[in-house]
Amino acid sequence: MPNLLENIIKNKIRTQGTITIADYMELCLGHPQYGYYMTRDPFGAKGDFITAPEVSQMFGEMIGLWLADLWMKMGSPSEFILLECGPGRGTLMEDILRTTKGLAGFHQAKKLYLMEMSPTLKAIQKQKLNIYEPTWIDDLNALPARVPLLLVANEFLDALPIHQLVKTGQEWMEKRIELKDDAFHFVYKPVDKRLKSCVPKKIWESQTDGVFEASLILNQYIKSVDILLKKQNGVALFVDYGHPETAMGDTLQTMRSHRFVNLFDTPGHSDITAHVDFENIAMQAWADELIVHGPTTQKSFLTGLGIDVRAERLMMGADDTQKESLRSGLNRLIDTDQMGSLFKVMALCPDPNLKLEGFDESL
Ligand code: SAH
Repeated sequence: MPNLLENIIKNKIRTQGTITIADYMELCLGHPQYGYYMTRDPFGAKGDFITAPEVSQMFGEMIGLWLADLWMKMGSPSEFILLECGPGRGTLMEDILRTTKGLAGFHQAKKLYLMEMSPTLKAIQKQKLNIYEPTWIDDLNALPARVPLLLVANEFLDALPIHQLVKTGQEWMEKRIELKDDAFHFVYKPVDKRLKSCVPKKIWESQTDGVFEASLILNQYIKSVDILLKKQNGVALFVDYGHPETAMGDTLQTMRSHRFVNLFDTPGHSDITAHVDFENIAMQAWADELIVHGPTTQKSFLTGLGIDVRAERLMMGADDTQKESLRSGLNRLIDTDQMGSLFKVMALCPDPNLKLEGFDESL
């Protein structure tokens, strides 16, 4: 079957000249008709990858308890925005809402918002979450003003398009995509001002050659979150794979059916992500006068919140098969050779007096 998205991208290059890796990623993931997320449910054994909420209900339960604790510490506001960005199948939010059901006032106070670009995933979220009356938004500007915000996002930031800058010798260039004999090829062009301003001085002036990844979209998104938190109070929690410190490195990865494939293979049929630079987020949040918690590892966050105790509790009423699945879910979430240390957790918040659980061991 011809790949229609491939033709669309090639035509764009033919008419406009080279495109950035961010342009390519944005089209591959988010093209309204043929983008990867727009057309499918990519999660699980039959899909292309699996995420923490899909691994075990305990992930969402821990985050539910964490949010419940925060809401109480914030004085149990009678109205607050509960927002998830990139909710996928809606599993995390479903587990959060199930866990918090018993907390008097929490459900009445929450106004549920989901930021999701995919019509296919929105339909799945609707089936699961409609009883909680969610509102879907495309943009953070669509949130109501003057209401505190509790934001969660798991594996959302890694899906935001990145640019790659490459240093060779003394020179920085941007890696872009052109066509050669009708096939995609990388080409190197001068770096524009906006991108240059995303590169920290220590990296720009470094003597070593290498790749640096910057995301204008992620930076813009974090800026909007920071402004909302400052204005409306609240907390934002990000869980994602990435590095605690800004560093050079090519982390762009393309995945299909749980295997790595080439970036240019079957555009629109594989997931493209990049590791998140948590130091970049922290630097921006500090500049915006927020308090930064973490990053810590997913293992430290979840064990700090008592996931082991929860697992034991669930095992008490379980048969052998259920016990095995709880055990393997727990291991997958916290083992350091699985999701435990690659995945990091960071929270942003304007209130220096708010004590956030789970961040005892910062990296
Ligand atoms: N949080 C879910 C899904 C992670 S996959 C989980 O942990 O299982 C990334 C999610 O972000 C998908 O729901 C995808 O459609 C959504 N997404 C990616 N880029 C987006 C954007 N720019 N705006 C809104 N949603 C986006």
